[in-house]
Amino acid sequence: MTNEELMNEDLKHIFHPCSQMKDYETLPLIPVKKGKGSYIYDFDGNEFLDCISSWWVNIFGHSNDFINQRINEQLQDLEHVIFAGFTHKPAIDLARRLVNMTAEPLQKIFFADNGSSAIEISLKMAFQYFKNKGESKPLFVSLTNSYHGETMGALAVSDTGLYKDIYEDILIKTIHAKSPALYDEDEAIDDMRRVLEENAGKVNSVVIEPLIQCAGSMKMYNPSYIARLRDVCDEFGVFLIADEIAVGFGRTGTMFAHEQAGISPDFLCLSKGITGGYMPLSVVLFTDDIYNAFYCDYNEGKSFLDSHSYTGNTIACAVANAVLDIFENENIIEKNQEKIEFIKEQTKKFTALDNVTEVRQRGMVCAIELQGYESNRRINLEIFQAALKEGVYIRPLGNVIYFMPPYCFTKEQLSKMIEVTYEIVSSKL
Ligand SMILES: *Cc1c(COP(=O)(O)O)cnc(C)c1O
Repeated sequence: MTNEELMNEDLKHIFHPCSQMKDYETLPLIPVKKGKGSYIYDFDGNEFLDCISSWWVNIFGHSNDFINQRINEQLQDLEHVIFAGFTHKPAIDLARRLVNMTAEPLQKIFFADNGSSAIEISLKMAFQYFKNKGESKPLFVSLTNSYHGETMGALAVSDTGLYKDIYEDILIKTIHAKSPALYDEDEAIDDMRRVLEENAGKVNSVVIEPLIQCAGSMKMYNPSYIARLRDVCDEFGVFLIADEIAVGFGRTGTMFAHEQAGISPDFLCLSKGITGGYMPLSVVLFTDDIYNAFYCDYNEGKSFLDSHSYTGNTIACAVANAVLDIFENENIIEKNQEKIEFIKEQTKKFTALDNVTEVRQRGMVCAIELQGYESNRRINLEIFQAALKEGVYIRPLGNVIYFMPPYCFTKEQLSKMIEVTYEIVSSKL
């Protein structure tokens, strides 16, 4: 079959995510036949370098031989089992390993199956923790320009108008404090303090995306903010929820972003890279103190009864263990440092271009912000299409081009990604 035939079949029935379906009249869908390593291949024989890790999830390349083998092994024994009243070895191993890899106070783990659900779980637990202690603290605080997912609770703590504004009337009330990615750090901390003072005794938690607000145009800030925020949260007795769904598993240069601040959050949400882009899985890690607030005789009514059908899916957990093995066996975090430096060097030249306002990078995320285009011009789509013609798949957010490549990209592949983009930004727009 050809791309076009498959696209026509697809469009008879499928409503795609994050899409205005009418756009597909002029912007063809790409049916993908296979993926291998850094490349995806369509049905017309084209190949594309996957420079955004298929929405930030695919950290070790497509159809990875090692992960494939581990899935096959797991399939011989067990694909999935109900996770209430039953357990399995892949989940037990994964839990122990994640607890050992993250900040010391995080000792307990709750499984779910996607990032938004992990956020919902941490919000519900943060609220219920106080409720179980006889206190009512109904408010959540998050940062301006934040993104925490698309379910109603996750959307409520987000501040990306494009996805949120329509639903404003039906969302739970949250308060946004100034983001350190958009304001001076002192100003952001002062604003957080103001919000917590004005709502003293009513806020249960502050939720942040450590170091990079990814969906919020890849805006970045320093670890020092997180360390200061930790103190402020302690001072006001509110939980700090770290949403590392996008930045966990090596994206920011360290295994987890909160490491760079030298602190522990009270809740840590992980997903995306956790299964190397193979399977939906998410986890929330939290402290013994939080765990203990739910531990009682059943009739006391303090249980946390949240559940999802595919919670702790066995294959997903086996894949996550394989991903952690790759990190260990191949020394990925250390090896990435060279790639991080390489990206830094190679993207310097963008700053000299008139239509570039900023090049920013943290670890394996690099963003190039453009200026000077009319707001109704969909410059992101133009760049996406131009790069695709050259075999490079990027997906700019508005006027911000970004690279979030899998860690298996070679220097040649990184070069191609950067050179093709440079050609487009410097001449063809
Ligand atoms: C992707 C993302 C989410 C939501 O995860 P889903 O699996 O898409 O529901 C939440 N927070 C951040 C920071 C994300 O990047």
